[in-house]
Amino acid sequence: MISLSFTVDKIYLLQHILKTQCTSKDFQLIKHALWRRNENLCYLLAQNIEPSICRGNFVSAIKDSLSNMRRDLSHIYNSPPFKRVLRQTNRYAFFVENQWKKNYAASLKIITDITRLDFSTIELHLKVFISHPELSRGRSYPDQKSIGWGHSEDWKNYSTVYLWHEIMHHLTYKSRANQTLMHALIELTCDNELRIRLNKRGHYFTEGAFSIGHRNLRELEKSVETRWRKYLPTPRLNLFGLEKKLRNEFPKKFPYQSPLERWADWH
Ligand SMILES: [Zn+2]
Repeated sequence: MISLSFTVDKIYLLQHILKTQCTSKDFQLIKHALWRRNENLCYLLAQNIEPSICRGNFVSAIKDSLSNMRRDLSHIYNSPPFKRVLRQTNRYAFFVENQWKKNYAASLKIITDITRLDFSTIELHLKVFISHPELSRGRSYPDQKSIGWGHSEDWKNYSTVYLWHEIMHHLTYKSRANQTLMHALIELTCDNELRIRLNKRGHYFTEGAFSIGHRNLRELEKSVETRWRKYLPTPRLNLFGLEKKLRNEFPKKFPYQSPLERWADWH
């Protein structure tokens, strides 16, 4: 069973605001207000601290490392721009959770049909940290049993498709698969097949004006596409079996990524 619990966490939201390049007025006001108030806190929170936040109690754990941390955070949380952004994020979280619940049964059936994984034997309970949709976040934190999510709904059922994409990262994390190849198979499974079957329309690799998937995986996906299309109606093989077969058949085609590059690219 897969279950997601959705949450909006202020410190999680704030650190995305500090890192974003998005020029939205409220994001800029929040950044500058924190910088003026406590530049060390601003500097600290603008790093990649999500894995630590997902574990919970981030502020309590580091409260002694900077002076006035709690006081200055509470000042920002009570400012009008942060309250506006938080309100929009809460509304977005409600939208994502509703869409997920509405699509869960149908999308689980599609994913089961594509991957041939037995979801009745899988127990995966994940916490989804929702960010503001303009902050464009999508990332898995398998060690923390968490997902970070917040993105504009570029096409129908966008959030459902990419939550499944992140779930597939969790399910394949500890496998012996080649992670680059598995990432390409996750995109063929979720970004393409699930999107098309769920929306009952569409094509591989593009959706309207949008390009689908990571650009660096496209060549690999195209090179295994014929084998992929043969796999889809072949019930005796599952996704892990396919990955193993492909790895043996095309060992030279997979671009090498160091573990650090894979981690940096893992969304
Ligand atoms: Zn991914």
